[in-house]
Amino acid sequence: MNREQERAEFVRDLKRRGIKDEKVLDAFAHVPREEFVEPLQEPLAFSDQALPIACGQTISQPYVVAAMTEALEVSPEHKVLEIGTGSGYQAAILAVLAREVFTIERHRDLAESARARLRRLGFGNVTVIHADGMEGAGDYALFDRIMVTAAAIEIPDTLTAQLVPGGIMVLPVGGPNEVQSLIRVRKRAGGGLDREDLMAVRFVPLLPGVPGRS
Ligand code: SAH
Repeated sequence: MNREQERAEFVRDLKRRGIKDEKVLDAFAHVPREEFVEPLQEPLAFSDQALPIACGQTISQPYVVAAMTEALEVSPEHKVLEIGTGSGYQAAILAVLAREVFTIERHRDLAESARARLRRLGFGNVTVIHADGMEGAGDYALFDRIMVTAAAIEIPDTLTAQLVPGGIMVLPVGGPNEVQSLIRVRKRAGGGLDREDLMAVRFVPLLPGVPGRS
């Protein structure tokens, strides 16, 4: 199979596993996942598994990236915030679906390499920020959608505060050694939050601060 066939098969597999939103499936067909994994892992780029990246982190399993993206209900006019840039793959998928994406990574190396990669691949509507994502991105708030790709112990108030009324946030919640739940939070017009449990997941933890800074 060549790369194109591999990617088409990868998208069919997501569909078989229950991803229905055609726009989300198209985004997966469009973003070259092999460019976001480490060179040694390239042969596994289109298998449905999480893979190690630098700084002891992981690029999430494609099915989970797809399910989270579908749950976020992104439209072309949306301004989206992602916490946990990692390789930049999820940010690239969001960038195909949204107007503008801001993504925050606490590891400087990951932030810099994701920024360079996204620029090289032509994702001009993504801004990578090296900072503690638990604080959100106040300078650019409010956001129509927020996705967190590291597990929080509880839903961070700082982030829900940066969501527009009617906005949606998707995030894994739970401790590192527990079964975590993927949660969808909808902010009501009046500011209240509705919470839904979507599925069990496993993510690296959302950690406070930025390494190397006190
Ligand atoms: N979305 C990524 C995978 C995320 S792995 C991808 O598509 O490749 C989770 C990432 O969250 C890791 O890179 C980790 O360093 C980062 N992270 C953890 N806590 C964070 C925080 N408080 N602020 C910003 N990034 C954080």
